[in-house]
Amino acid sequence: MAEFAHVIIDISHEKVDRPFTYRIPEPLREQVHAGCLVDVPFGKGNRVRSGYVVDLSDQAGYDPSKIKEIAGIHAGSVSAESQLIQVAWWMKERYGSTMNQALKTVLPVKQQIRQVSRRFLRCLLSPEELEEEIQKAVKKGYKARERLLRAMVHTPVLPYDMAVSQLNLSPASIRPLAERGVIAIDTQFTYRNPADGFLAGEKGKEPSIRLNDQQQAAVSQICSEYDAGIRKTYLIHGITGSGKTEIYMELIDHVRSLGKQVILLIPEISLTYQTVMRFCRRFGGQVSFINSRLSAGEKYDQFERARKGEIQIMIGPRSALFTPFKQLGLIIIDEEHEGAYKSELTPRYHARETAQYRAALSQASVVLGSATPSVESYSRAVSGLYGYFRITRRAKANSVLPQIQVVDMRRELKEGNRSVFSRILQQRIQETLKRQEQVMLFLNRRGYSQFLSCRSCGEAIKCPHCDVTLTLHQNQRLVCHYCGYQIPRPGACPVCQSPYLAPFGTGTEKIEAMVRETFPSARVLRMDLDTTSKKGSHDGILAAFGAHEADILIGTQMIVKGHDFPAVTLVGILAADLSLYAPDYRCGERTFQLLTQAAGRAGRDARAGEVMIQTYSPDHYCIQAAAAQDYDGFYEKEMAYRRLLGYPPASALMTLTVSSQEEAMAEKAMGVIHRWMKDATARESASSLQLIGPVNAPIYKLNDIYRKILYMKCKNCAIISGEDCGEMSPYRILIQVRKWLEERWKTVGADGTVALLFDFP
Ligand code: ADP
Ligand code: ZN
Ligand code: ZN
Repeated sequence: MAEFAHVIIDISHEKVDRPFTYRIPEPLREQVHAGCLVDVPFGKGNRVRSGYVVDLSDQAGYDPSKIKEIAGIHAGSVSAESQLIQVAWWMKERYGSTMNQALKTVLPVKQQIRQVSRRFLRCLLSPEELEEEIQKAVKKGYKARERLLRAMVHTPVLPYDMAVSQLNLSPASIRPLAERGVIAIDTQFTYRNPADGFLAGEKGKEPSIRLNDQQQAAVSQICSEYDAGIRKTYLIHGITGSGKTEIYMELIDHVRSLGKQVILLIPEISLTYQTVMRFCRRFGGQVSFINSRLSAGEKYDQFERARKGEIQIMIGPRSALFTPFKQLGLIIIDEEHEGAYKSELTPRYHARETAQYRAALSQASVVLGSATPSVESYSRAVSGLYGYFRITRRAKANSVLPQIQVVDMRRELKEGNRSVFSRILQQRIQETLKRQEQVMLFLNRRGYSQFLSCRSCGEAIKCPHCDVTLTLHQNQRLVCHYCGYQIPRPGACPVCQSPYLAPFGTGTEKIEAMVRETFPSARVLRMDLDTTSKKGSHDGILAAFGAHEADILIGTQMIVKGHDFPAVTLVGILAADLSLYAPDYRCGERTFQLLTQAAGRAGRDARAGEVMIQTYSPDHYCIQAAAAQDYDGFYEKEMAYRRLLGYPPASALMTLTVSSQEEAMAEKAMGVIHRWMKDATARESASSLQLIGPVNAPIYKLNDIYRKILYMKCKNCAIISGEDCGEMSPYRILIQVRKWLEERWKTVGADGTVALLFDFP
């Protein structure tokens, strides 16, 4: 039991570095924990103030005789802060960070709240007049104007900024409408809610939908268990378009009607205009959104509104999990399998696990949704740990699953076709264009050519800062996709001066050029990191494609997630193998998920859809299972593989990374850690811990930093996860390794550039 508590009076992001240390009186030692609100004597006059315990320790850090004692535990209800500090404490222990890092992750940055003026576009026409105006715009070919007017059919008041960025409008296309009295531009002073203002009066506009029996079964069971006081995690496994979002909205309604609040996590990339509007129409001003483009101040404002009870529903990516709701009742995680739910910054928390911890603290349930659940979640559902619902049908009447065909590219090559398009795909594209329907082509690599290599000496041109080749772009520049380094395309080989440099491999830019050449009459759009770097361009491209302003959309995995494009009847997956052989035990799962999602883009409407999967490995189980839309078949083979090799969820795995700008230093430090870990595993308590490595990271040098990895595998997950055997938990290992290294550093002469990262893959 810890003797000292570190207390912060007036908890905020800015104060976490400066806690005050207090002694915990003997009788209180069992009750005081991180997050506790305690009363303490403060300042010269020892006035009693309350503060939060953020950390505990056995040592005072300075003269113990000068330390004051905690006066008592503050009575009253548990606040949102208290819970979040507890969450931070748990994150620190589980993911191996300092308490400071964990607290800074859960607390928003405070900024002076100032009033901001915002502009709104308001429609002044009757529905009939509006329809007339739309037809006028169509006739004159004013695409931007048409998009705005069509948006106003559902939403007569739109925030100006949102309309400009997400509908891809220019002020020049808006002004004439205002001058002619079609719309008004209003200015209001509001809180900085990205969706504020146009919500009032919008509630209830969403046409009410009757849930089908599969949807209703999930809603009924979750709600009745909720009413019976049961709190647990559920997995809703429903194909794309099966109406999961409708289920979420019903659940949100139910929990909200009980006076509780809801957090809905969605991957950032799915937080599109359409999604935002759908929730606004249903829940009006009760909902708010955050995304990574909001400034710290804007985010803080939204969290403040949640704390004050002005909103009941928060929608956003990973960090929305830390919304300070007082009566959190439900956390929903859509697309729960997404990699983006795992933080890449320390503490490297996973939102799914952290949501479950927070839910347990606040008596909330967790609902996970996915068309392709992560192997981890599905295995928990299979074992009965999670409630489980399977939705097998698409929700919209007439909408059926597409036909999927695997095209063997080895045969194409053998039969003399060297194009990246198989003959059958070319033919289908022609036919689809002729029917005036739309095509999506998916290739998970941007740029023009994958790399440039020398025909004389065979060298590929590499990034000087990373262990990867530079990608050739259409603008004749070579770009590193990992660190951003660029150079103009060289005229000669930098190694042997030979002028014969040839591009190899295909990226989306090259596909675009080839599509334009092969189908000259088709209108083409491309969506990848290069075409979406500008704010709003992502939504702009989707909006233009949705309005059928193009026939073919080419893109990286960005186009895989997203919405209904009713006129898309053909999806071509150009190189299904690209993600199949990555150095990561999850690459099979990723490939299956990506292919299934890409296939789900076809035939979202009444028209039947077709999907072509081009591959050099037509017999691989992930490709076979994706083509057959057979999740169970995939899961069975994947689990067999994970069991065989001892990968999660069959075993727990922890990755310890040492990185340093000096290669020799990374090597030395890793050697030291490896020896230390070997000694540690010799002990009885950790004898089931298996060490693998150390090895170089898959990309050894990245941004001029060398990275070495030591894997720790263990059949008993509790040992690594720190639930058992505290001695070997990530936090303890981190502390001990650091201490150990600090002592050795003096002898090896280190410069302190070594970083340690713990990671549950
Ligand atoms: P998911 O989230 O599983 O991809 P959505 O909830 O977005 O699915 O639903 C897909 C489409 O089907 C949406 O346009 C939605 O409005 C519609 N939809 C959902 N449930 C029903 C239903 N019960 N009846 C008719 N249409 C539905
Ligand atoms: Zn050369
Ligand atoms: Zn680089």
